[in-house]
Amino acid sequence: MSTADIAALTECSRPTVNSWLRKHDIKLRSKRGVWNAARRERNRVALDERRKDPEFNRKVSEAASKKMTERWDDPEFVEHVKRLGSERMKKKWEDPEFYEHMCKENSRTLKEKWKNPEFREKQRKMLSERSKEWWKDPEYRERVTERSKKLWEDDEYREMMSKKAKEQWADLEYYQYMTDVVNEHWADPENRESVSGENSVHWRGGKSFEPYTPDFNFEFKEYIRNREGRCCFLCGKAADENGTRLDVHHIDYDKENTTEENCVALCKKCHTDTNHTRKKWKVYLNARLAETYILT
Ligand SMILES: [Zn+2]
Repeated sequence: MSTADIAALTECSRPTVNSWLRKHDIKLRSKRGVWNAARRERNRVALDERRKDPEFNRKVSEAASKKMTERWDDPEFVEHVKRLGSERMKKKWEDPEFYEHMCKENSRTLKEKWKNPEFREKQRKMLSERSKEWWKDPEYRERVTERSKKLWEDDEYREMMSKKAKEQWADLEYYQYMTDVVNEHWADPENRESVSGENSVHWRGGKSFEPYTPDFNFEFKEYIRNREGRCCFLCGKAADENGTRLDVHHIDYDKENTTEENCVALCKKCHTDTNHTRKKWKVYLNARLAETYILT
């Protein structure tokens, strides 16, 4: 509506309408703005008309794809897109909801895939291959520990993980399967070899334990605590929050079985918890250990 329209409607002059509008601080559309809007509208209608012509559409998409190809040839542009993408992915993963969704999605598809014996066989092979490369790289080890430490410092993440654990808890079949995989993995002499002697430097923290009968001594316990980033393996509580050094727990409750795949560092509270429903804890911890140190 224009001021002239208002003047006609209210039966007064345009200057009167203008002065009232000013009084109430009502902004008038600028002539330029009105023209521009009209031009945009005209262009839109014209474009809609031209889009009906397939030849025109073909030309437009050709030009666009040519422009895109040119841009992808520009290393600066490629770098920019990559940076944008990785930043976006990082942001996405920082969103607990997205993370939870991906965790769920992952475990769902994994479980689905595990029903297929062929996939299981492949997975097992990959596992044994990977474990050989396992902690050989000190940088990788540090990165993993740093990452998990940071994540566990976040209350929200801790809460989410405990929720996730409870959910998976219900799925004992899944964990039983994981336990079988781990046991099978360690039954293979080749895999055991890969973590003993020379290859064991990082897995064993550079200390020389007897391959499969290390003593449950301070050195060994410190090694396990360090592996866990000096945080409780279950709830992520840091050692200083625990008040004392973390306990080192035997997953299968056999105190003689002092191996790194049978031991985890726990806070006082979690260690007490593992005294109940032992069977469940054994299955669960075995699986978590595999998830943390083998499958990642
Ligand atoms: Zn704990």
